[in-house]
Amino acid sequence: MHDLVIRGATVVDGLGHDPIRADVAVKDGRIAGIGEVDKDASEIVDAGGLALMPGIIDLHTHYDAQVTWDPTLSPSPSLGVTTAIMGSCGFGIVPSPPDLRDLIMRNLAVVEGMDLDALRAGIDWRFQSFAEYMTMLRGRGAYMNLGVLAGHSAVRTAVMGEAASVRKQPTAAELAEMKRLVGEAMDQGAIGLGGSYSLNHSGWGGVPMPSTISEIAEFDALVGAMGGPGRGVVEISSGPITPDAMEEIAARHGRRIFMSTAIALYKSSIRSARSAYSTPAEQRRRAETNSTSRSPVSPCRSTSRWQARTHSTAIGRSTRSRPTTASN
Ligand SMILES: [Zn+2]
Repeated sequence: MHDLVIRGATVVDGLGHDPIRADVAVKDGRIAGIGEVDKDASEIVDAGGLALMPGIIDLHTHYDAQVTWDPTLSPSPSLGVTTAIMGSCGFGIVPSPPDLRDLIMRNLAVVEGMDLDALRAGIDWRFQSFAEYMTMLRGRGAYMNLGVLAGHSAVRTAVMGEAASVRKQPTAAELAEMKRLVGEAMDQGAIGLGGSYSLNHSGWGGVPMPSTISEIAEFDALVGAMGGPGRGVVEISSGPITPDAMEEIAARHGRRIFMSTAIALYKSSIRSARSAYSTPAEQRRRAETNSTSRSPVSPCRSTSRWQARTHSTAIGRSTRSRPTTASN
């Protein structure tokens, strides 16, 4: 006897096959049959007129703050998402030294288009370390399965404070502490590391998000700090960093790296697409320019309301010729 039979749904199996009208049987938490199945079951659900499919895994979300006050993680579950990865682009909210929390929220408000008042009122800061954050998550009863990335910008902010968005080079001690924090996060259950070199990722007042001004060597060191070969995955909004450079880092550390937003961040002109694949010298030049002239426009939200608000927070920053393509 099956534990559950779902009857008469239009089944989309996620393998590319055409949808079929079928019954689905479940036994011991696993699918035991699709099609004509034995109707003997502890529970039968009539799904006629509905679609039935595998849950969607959303590889790129920013629920890090919302999850502290909203375990429903609205609206993703109602859209079919059953697993979400958070901490994308390295913009998590942990580690969270109390004196840096408002800075973390101000930057997050701009780069992800979140309402600052909602963040200030909503985040339940019952954690400071990554370990405490994971404990909070495990007890939260979130509606989705969650994977958490340690964040390059998050650890840079925790170690360097306001200077994280201004000073390209950490001291040796600061870099060592960042590496320690990444290793600690991995030990506590992080699935990997998130980072960003996107030219579009700006924080409060138009300052660059911390990781975007760092040398690629710093990112490389943090990828190395994740642990032994093969441990964890790396997500990066790579901006002007080329796939070749990423492949080098992936090979050096035996790590899988996925570039969630690469040339998609650029205008769709051939010229811009070409500029995303440039020489290291060209990349360095662009990074130099980038660190002194940053648009407040983020790639993560593109509504006119959002742009109007963030433009109004820009202080003495150029907005010329920066891409505005929307993406997470
Ligand atoms: Zn993102």
